[in-house]
Amino acid sequence: MLIHHFWVRRVENLPVSSRQIGGCTIWPVPEKATGVVPKVLRGTVVTHRRRCWKPNCRCADGEALHEQVILSYSQESRARSVTLPSELIKPVRQATQRYREARQRLEAEGTASLEAFVQYLKTTR
Ligand SMILES: [Zn+2]
Repeated sequence: MLIHHFWVRRVENLPVSSRQIGGCTIWPVPEKATGVVPKVLRGTVVTHRRRCWKPNCRCADGEALHEQVILSYSQESRARSVTLPSELIKPVRQATQRYREARQRLEAEGTASLEAFVQYLKTTR
């Protein structure tokens, strides 16, 4: 069992049950949670490295920075992002790659058929 706090709430129909610990709602995520990643996903996986600015943290020297991996995307013309739990980084990255490849294939197919169609109309009418 892996514990993730804010992610599962958005995924419906997962067989999880929450429990309260110290005022926090804890959501156990089944290890097969990677199966919830769709085949294609629009967006870009981005790694952020940053300091938290707590004086005694390991990141205070400016070298051992915190890494946070997010899925960056746009929705209704606004830039948005969501933090990715570590076990979902790889499948989400693959899903965004499949999306880009599928979009390129569709654009190439649409362009080729458009050119052929225009040519047909020009030569037969
Ligand atoms: Zn820190």
